[in-house]
Parts: sequence; C-alpha cells; structure tokens
Amino acid sequence: MAGRQYPWVLADVAWSAAQEFTRGTHLGLPLLSWGIAPRDLLATRRQLRARGLRPGGQEPVAYLYFRCRAAEKKVYAELFLISLAKPHRPATPAQHTALAKANLGRRLCRSCGRDAGYVVPLETRQCTNCWLLDQGIDPTAEHDGAAHLQVG
Ligand SMILES: [Zn+2]
Repeated sequence: MAGRQYPWVLADVAWSAAQEFTRGTHLGLPLLSWGIAPRDLLATRRQLRARGLRPGGQEPVAYLYFRCRAAEKKVYAELFLISLAKPHRPATPAQHTALAKANLGRRLCRSCGRDAGYVVPLETRQCTNCWLLDQGIDPTAEHDGAAHLQVG
C-alpha cells in the first residue's frame, strides 16, 4: 500500500511557519499526498492556470503524488505557492505594441503626418486643422464658421 510506502514525516515546509506532516521527500522537496496539500496555499501548474495565474518564476516548494489510474503509475506534480504566483499576461508585449501601432495609424493625419490625438475621420483621414485649411479656412483665425465646423 502507498501508506506504508510513504510514512508520515513532520518536516519544515515553505508554506507554514510550523512543521507540517508530509509523506517524506521527492527530489529534495516535501512530498504530499492528495488531500493533505493545503488547497488555499499550494497549487499545481494546472490549478494555477485555472485561477488565471502562473508560477511567475518561482521554484516548486513541494511535490504532490497521486496515482494515475489510466496509466497505472504514480504521478508527481510540482506544487507552487499561490501567494507568489503572478497573473497570466493577457497579451504579450509584442501584441501590445501591434495594437498601439494600429491605434496610432487611425490617429495619424495624412496631410501633416502628425498624431491628431483622436481617430481621424475615415473619409478624409485628416486632422481638423488640415481639413479646415483644405476648405480654405484658417483654423487659427477666429472664424465665425470655424466654431461649428470643428470636429472632435
Ligand atoms: Zn493634419
């Protein structure tokens, strides 16, 4: 039986100030059996992912063993501290850059080439200033008509 194979061992563990019962060690780390691993403190990689988390560069602090019935063998899963886990990145930095570029493209005026600071109208692709200039209106002058011609 597995119980005889892995006797209870009190040991220092990373997730508690007090010594906790373990099932010995595996690869130099405390070994836990299914049911004794504190679910609110420790999680496997798969459990972290289910919570939208990732180990975040930390080393495993323990191993969890369970019997895989289908493969008829023991499986060891790394356990990580939930407190040190990091949120899963929703997008990679490259994806963020691509998105920012796409947004910038929609703000660029085709006449002056400047970032208008807002999405320029699709029909003209011009900022308000350039569009007014093309209409023969000086945007810097206090035109009567300029007030209601202003877009955005
Ligand atoms: Zn412009």
